[in-house]
Amino acid sequence: MDLRSEIKTIIASLMVKHPLLATLLQLIRIIKVNEEFALTMDERRIFIGNQWSHLNNAEKVKLLLHATMHIFLSHVERTRNIARKIVTNNPEYTARMLHLIADVKVAQYLEHIDRSEGRLIREFEYMTKIKNVKIKSFEEIVLELFDKVPIGDRDGESTNKDNLSNLDLLRKKHGFTTSKDSLKFAEQEILHKGSEELCKCANEDLDKVKKDLITKAVVQAKTIGTEPGELMKLFLELIESKIDWKQYLRNFFARGGFKDVKRTFTRFSRRFIDDDVFILPGKEGMGMNKVLVLIDSSGSISEEESRAFVSEVYELVKHTMGVIVILWDAEPHEVIEISSPEEIEKIKNYYGGGTMICSTLEEAIKHLQNVKFVVIFTDGYIGDLPRRDEFKSISQLDPQRDAELLKTVQLLRKIASQAKILFVTTGALPTEMPWLTVIKYEREEWEH
Ligand SMILES: [Zn+2]
Repeated sequence: MDLRSEIKTIIASLMVKHPLLATLLQLIRIIKVNEEFALTMDERRIFIGNQWSHLNNAEKVKLLLHATMHIFLSHVERTRNIARKIVTNNPEYTARMLHLIADVKVAQYLEHIDRSEGRLIREFEYMTKIKNVKIKSFEEIVLELFDKVPIGDRDGESTNKDNLSNLDLLRKKHGFTTSKDSLKFAEQEILHKGSEELCKCANEDLDKVKKDLITKAVVQAKTIGTEPGELMKLFLELIESKIDWKQYLRNFFARGGFKDVKRTFTRFSRRFIDDDVFILPGKEGMGMNKVLVLIDSSGSISEEESRAFVSEVYELVKHTMGVIVILWDAEPHEVIEISSPEEIEKIKNYYGGGTMICSTLEEAIKHLQNVKFVVIFTDGYIGDLPRRDEFKSISQLDPQRDAELLKTVQLLRKIASQAKILFVTTGALPTEMPWLTVIKYEREEWEH
């Protein structure tokens, strides 16, 4: 079988078993080059070299999927960016380590297909003593690893850490560019055309093009109707958002607040959006402003609600200079900084305790520097927050009996003196307060 038909056959058979991955792979241009490697890639293309013919079919499939994930997780670009932050004696060693870490992140999304990928994650964690790599971003793991290796040992000679680069046999069969320019080989043959847009778009647009393609791939793979794997769930989480943050932030930053957004609850609809009416402040227009997000991760929050909250944060981060997330239940837990959409995977833990917001608001106050916008995601069933079905207005609160509730009201007011608060609830509504904008976030199947 010639190479071209071989690639065609691989994609076709993957389409049945793993439609999302196959759809993504199909978008990538695959080129045969006369070089002595099996496979390598840059930001957007896969190159197949002469060693390819020595691999068996299973290895070939694995390598193609592996490369697909590297490309759609933008590992080449991210590796290049993070490499600048690392001091090292041996750039080659650094490059190997960065690729290994990228491979660990890839493994996370292919684990459900291939058990050896899961083993790579566990061995990496064991050898580096870095914990929970699945919830850490690529960049975080890189910085943590290089923080643990003293600079003198970064020449990669006979250190224990160097064993790491032997972890995965698959890695030896593929390359991974960290060079500044895209790879330039004498192309022998285009084996698979892929998406013209992905192949030809400007570097600045690459990130957006990839996101759009992922979105389309998810829709397409969904219609094929195969059981969604972990990967599908991840992508779905990333692209499903009900709130138009662009519109909210636009109103907020262009007009100095939410004065014209009804301070009531509404089923959110995209049809109110008219892109031409206002000038959207770009990320630059927002200065250093960040958004602080408080995510209820108490026991009453369903998995689906959690997922919805995460997808809202994902949208939010696209339109801001960064998001600080505090996960909370009866008390604040992790404080997570997210500065790019890829880092959304850092939000992973759910705590499952009772729901009290007071101590979380106290924590939030500590993080208000450069924050002009605070979003609270919750089901609204919060022990120390007055609810609309019990108190029509805050004037009904009794200073003695409802001291706890009043304390929350005061904390919200204090935050509101520095930032606008948006309260997004899937369930109960808080008592009306002039400094709280409430959105009822509805979905039929959320029962309380
Ligand atoms: Zn790799």
